[in-house]
Amino acid sequence: MRKRMQKLPLSTLTDRYGRDITYLRVSVTDRCDFRCVYCMSEHMTFLPKRELLTLEELYRLCSAFVARGVRRLRITGGEPLVRKNIMWLFKALARHLDNGTLDELTLTTNASQLKRFAHDLKAVGVERINVSLDTLDADRFRAITRWGDLGTVMNGLAAADEAGLKVKINTVALKETNEDELDEMIQFAHSRGYDLTLIETMPMGDVDGDRTDQYLPLSIVRARLMYRWTLHDIPHRTGGPARYVEVRETGGRLGFITPMSHNFCESCNRVRLTCTGTLYMCLGQEDAADLRAPLRSNPDDTGLHDAIDQAIALKPKGHDFVIDRRGAKPSVARHMSVTGG
Ligand code: SAM
Ligand code: SF4
Repeated sequence: MRKRMQKLPLSTLTDRYGRDITYLRVSVTDRCDFRCVYCMSEHMTFLPKRELLTLEELYRLCSAFVARGVRRLRITGGEPLVRKNIMWLFKALARHLDNGTLDELTLTTNASQLKRFAHDLKAVGVERINVSLDTLDADRFRAITRWGDLGTVMNGLAAADEAGLKVKINTVALKETNEDELDEMIQFAHSRGYDLTLIETMPMGDVDGDRTDQYLPLSIVRARLMYRWTLHDIPHRTGGPARYVEVRETGGRLGFITPMSHNFCESCNRVRLTCTGTLYMCLGQEDAADLRAPLRSNPDDTGLHDAIDQAIALKPKGHDFVIDRRGAKPSVARHMSVTGG
């Protein structure tokens, strides 16, 4: 009699420092309809389309991670909503929400296309989204994003509100660009019921200009904000690097992401997948593993799971970001739009 091979359950992912990997960020495209000054140079060369994983392949990869215990997926980019037929991927991934193997499916977006997508996103099961917005001034908005239009983004936010999506605003604090506007950003976000997170610029990819001109330590920002606002540390955690306070005057939440002035690596639970199937174990390191080859060479995912195990074993203890030497090359050569924020 032929012995039946018993299928062993797949193990969850824990790295060699004991960190459980339960969060995957997926950059579905490196392209974007903006050219934010801290993120991209004006004349970017994007990947040829043939190098991108198809949406079906992205679904298969994400599903492999869900099978290994990933409970949260964030779709990012580039601008994820410019990827053709992106709702197909959201709908497919939402099946994991429906069967209880995934806790959350979220999105980071510049909101340029949100008016078109907000309703459908909510309908498939997306509850929360992160919207990147650095200023409320239309001219500044154009200067920071180069190609963006503030009015379109505001319409996108209104559509998100209408659809019932919970919004968190991400604002990169930029020296001499929006540093005088952060009080107003708090007021705006909290008056609309949004959380706000401030982010330090990270030295990723060549941009036109010098990073030291953009970098504003959030320790300085926080000290300044305390003249105007009463900030109370709160234990709120989203599993990410942000540390939160409650602003007493507004009752709203304010987060600080400080990779440069503060290390958040010890509790890192995430890995990042690019649109070509490269897995980065750390935003601030070059270590990476190719998952596209094992994905394509074997239809039954065995090779893929081996490759995922080998990759997780490479997750480094911490990142290597430094912005200290004028004119120095970025610490990490790839742009944020490759790995996704
Ligand atoms: N296009 C979408 C957006 O802007 O929300 C998603 C991708 S974008 C790369 C994700 C986040 O990364 C944005 O909040 C953006 O502000 C942030 N970001 C991009 N480059 C950065 C850098 N060099 N340092 C810090 N944050 C950066
Ligand atoms: Fe595009 Fe987002 Fe990068 Fe701005 S931050 S250029 S919106 S990917």
